[in-house]
Parts: sequence; structure tokens; C-alpha cells
Amino acid sequence: MSACLLGTRCNHEGGHSRRPAVEALAATHRLVPICPEVCGGLSTPRPAAERRGDRVVNAEGADVTDAYERGARAAVELARAVGASQAVLKARSPSCGSALVYDGTFSRTLRAGEGVTAAALRAVGIEVLSEDDLPA
Ligand code: SF4
Repeated sequence: MSACLLGTRCNHEGGHSRRPAVEALAATHRLVPICPEVCGGLSTPRPAAERRGDRVVNAEGADVTDAYERGARAAVELARAVGASQAVLKARSPSCGSALVYDGTFSRTLRAGEGVTAAALRAVGIEVLSEDDLPA
């Protein structure tokens, strides 16, 4: 699970994206939270970042791809350690987005695509959903 969906204040503004529909999954599933960006070594708060091609850049112009890839590897290791078969990740994040991401222009323009962690989890066979895929 994206940790921010469970209320951890780990997003780039130091806030969370708590969703009751995500928390309700705890009744039937074992939920294991992770914030890939924090696990990749980024601070909270931190500059907004977006995917730009194969890279991730932040709003200050820095290439932060390495941190995103470290976080994705941590998420894959955790998923394997706990035997996860599914992940519910925050929509539209450059790490966690699973269908749409911002396009790297910092103009709030979405494009089809996935975050670095969502792609890494799918590459090892884990089903990735977002909070938008859950019942309201
Ligand atoms: S990296 Fe994922 S878990 Fe962390 S704040 Fe961003 S969307 Fe939430």
C-alpha cells in the first residue's frame, strides 16, 4: 500500500492522502505500507517531481531518478518478503501512479503511464491498483 493512502504524512508537501476505502481493506487483507520516495532517500517535504521520459525530474530541475529507482527496488523487496500479490498505490504519483502520470512539464498535464514503483512491481508479477479502482 502507498503509505500516504493509510494516513502517513509522507507526500512531497508533508501531507497524506488518507482514503477510508483503502483502510477498509484491512478487514479482509493484510496491509503493508511503504512510501517508495522516502525509502529511496528523499526528504519530506521535498520538491514536486514528475516523470520525463525514462527519467524523474523535480521542480528545481534536478534529476532524481536514482532515488525513485532505489525506492522501487525497496518496494519490490518488501513485496517479496511479505508475499504480496497485489498493491494499491496512489494514483498519478511519479512513483506510485498506475495508469496516468504528470508529463514532466509541471503544467498539471496528465499522460498515460505509470510511476517507477508501479512499473517495478508489475514487472515481478504483482497486480497494481489505485485508490480510484476501489469502491467509494
Ligand atoms: S511515493 Fe507513493 S506512498 Fe510516497 S507519498 Fe508519493 S504516492 Fe504516497
